[in-house]
Amino acid sequence: MTTDTTSFCTTATSQWGTFFGIGQEVFTRVWEQLTDPSGNSVTYISMEIGADLDVFHPLRDRLLAAGIVASDDPPLDFHVKKFVNGPTKIPNYSGGLGVLAGDTLKSFADLRLPVAAISLLYRKGYFSQVMDSRLGQIACRTEWHPEQTPGLYLLQDPERPGTPLEIEIPFFDRNDARVPARAQVWMKLELAGDLQWFVPEILLDFSVPATPEWIRNAADQLYEASSERAKAIQRRLLGASVVPIMQRLGITSRTIHLNEQHGVVLVLHLIAEELRQRFGDDYAMLASDDDIRDAADRVRQRVVYTIHTPVKAGHDRFEKNLYAELSHSFCQRILHLLAADAEHPGMFNFTVLAMRVNRATNAVSRLHKLVTQKQFPAFAGQITAITNGVHHLTWVSPNRAQLYDATPLLAGWRTDPGVFRNAEGLKDDETFRAGLRDAWQRDTEHLVRTVNRMLIEHRNQMLSTWIDPPNYLSHLEGDQGRLFADWYTIGFARRFSTYKRADLIFEDLERLAAILKQGGFRVNFVYAGKAHPADEPGKALIKEIIDLQDELFHMTGGAARLVFIPNYDMAVARMMVAGVHAWLNCPKRPLEASGTSGMKAAMNGVPNISIMDGWWVEGYHDGTTGWKFGYEAPIDEAALREDPDALLYAEDAASFYALLPEILETFYHRPEEYLDRAIMNLARNCPVFNTHRMAAEYARNYGLRLPEEKEERLASLAALYQSDTPP
Ligand SMILES: *Cc1c(COP(=O)(O)O)cnc(C)c1O
Repeated sequence: MTTDTTSFCTTATSQWGTFFGIGQEVFTRVWEQLTDPSGNSVTYISMEIGADLDVFHPLRDRLLAAGIVASDDPPLDFHVKKFVNGPTKIPNYSGGLGVLAGDTLKSFADLRLPVAAISLLYRKGYFSQVMDSRLGQIACRTEWHPEQTPGLYLLQDPERPGTPLEIEIPFFDRNDARVPARAQVWMKLELAGDLQWFVPEILLDFSVPATPEWIRNAADQLYEASSERAKAIQRRLLGASVVPIMQRLGITSRTIHLNEQHGVVLVLHLIAEELRQRFGDDYAMLASDDDIRDAADRVRQRVVYTIHTPVKAGHDRFEKNLYAELSHSFCQRILHLLAADAEHPGMFNFTVLAMRVNRATNAVSRLHKLVTQKQFPAFAGQITAITNGVHHLTWVSPNRAQLYDATPLLAGWRTDPGVFRNAEGLKDDETFRAGLRDAWQRDTEHLVRTVNRMLIEHRNQMLSTWIDPPNYLSHLEGDQGRLFADWYTIGFARRFSTYKRADLIFEDLERLAAILKQGGFRVNFVYAGKAHPADEPGKALIKEIIDLQDELFHMTGGAARLVFIPNYDMAVARMMVAGVHAWLNCPKRPLEASGTSGMKAAMNGVPNISIMDGWWVEGYHDGTTGWKFGYEAPIDEAALREDPDALLYAEDAASFYALLPEILETFYHRPEEYLDRAIMNLARNCPVFNTHRMAAEYARNYGLRLPEEKEERLASLAALYQSDTPP
């Protein structure tokens, strides 16, 4: 089809530029709310946002479904072709935090909430992972071009149409001299499923000539960690951008939501702004310490803060000396008052700052709330739980979605994940059971076919490049060197970090081999994940996974096969969570604050096998939705230790081996019982662990005034679950 008569092939024009796929009246309606003097909106700040077009995009998916590849109208033709043929990955995320942000914004859009998001645009994205069996993970530069990527728009300067908008953010050296940190501004629209609303993602891009190279370099790559200095600069760029870009675009949000403390420098600027209004331009000289604390109390009313991890590396601390080079002396004065680090007198603690300056602190699961209260006793009273979720439309596989669509009891699931409560009534429905079995099998076949193709590709690559294939199976021929779709398939994929213990279940290969031999069981293990390039222990874990493949193969006589898929991203994640038979999570309790990949599996009915940590404390229901294993440690000092000696490998691996035969027997000998668990996942976990419900819980903290029908919709979603009750 070349002509389009469809309503979504349309553009909206504003002084900032022209946006495709959204009607003029929709653009105007949303923008008016975001810029309304009442401030009745929210600005959401995140270091990373993951929302790749190849897993979900309401507009691109519509074009593809309708077979539209071009348009007779030249300006539209440009956009249509870009969407259909352009790159589909926006590597502005590293893992769970970013994917959560993307999922959250999609739900905000679906629920028509007035929200804008601010993040940075990283010209080198996050690193790409190449794997070599001798070297392990090799970090490569990610090639991507925002200019070619559909759905990303470079905003124009309204005073000089046709030239990019540029803003300057406050950045100072140690003598309080201004450093010209200038950025151009990209906008991505996170569209509602029905295209009747959007959430703008505003992405600051510091790669402009006026910006000094040392700032551009620090802004180039997400979580650039060549030095503490680069890391501190990157955080500052995010936090210091918020006020100027909101002012420039006219966004008036009273409430600002910090998705993790990375952007907390923002509050320093809000405090300074408060003081300027009170004392005028000489506020830095006139304001007393008490005035600063008073201003912080007022700023507090504007900030909602989500804390995402109990792990120390997740909390920013910077040397005071280092910080002196990068910020105004007045900023440092505020930090001395509000960000003192009791354990490290020479450092500023940015988590403490975020804890101090907010009106609502949210942990990301019930257990994480307890952990956070233990870690920050001075703030315990203000910490509540809003358990994470996933955007169900993003993570349900097309095969499963087709089944849900065809199931009358699930009617409306796309807009209201609450209808999955009805799924319990499907346990005895033979049509649904057969449909689920069939969809699942097709998803498994897709995963196994993709992996097998990759194994062959890697074998061929070995002949033409210096790269050794990362998988032992690539060296084997025929049926030896592949996976099988009718073998029990366990998936594990996430960031490689020591507390996540990726190698836990391979702790005792002899024991594992004995279990498989005894029952005559065969198992595929499919693994994926990146380690941050500066995380040496994390990289060593990946290497270990690669290294034990051949031993596992030989000790089990080929009955257990372990494959690692390089360069984990959202598309790999979606294929895996739908294709595997079980999703494994084995962190050291209670260091996994929430975990979200297990929720993605649950959206497809796939049972979890997991340590009782993060969301699984809430998603596990007496074995009906999956399995639990491991030591359920009380939450004390010992439990929070992260050092290698405290990771409880022996105990938790033994617990896994004790459980495994039961799981394999269920899968191979009592498949109907296995399927019951899948259906119970839909019934008990889909209504809860989705971002629509989560967004509805956050909306309460935001205190937005909304029209009645929106309030009602939010109330009915929030009623699905009360996160903030004891675990
Ligand atoms: C969902 C997701 C994650 C987060 O998984 P966790 O279970 O929370 O660790 C990380 N990376 C990608 C690409 C994802 O899709």
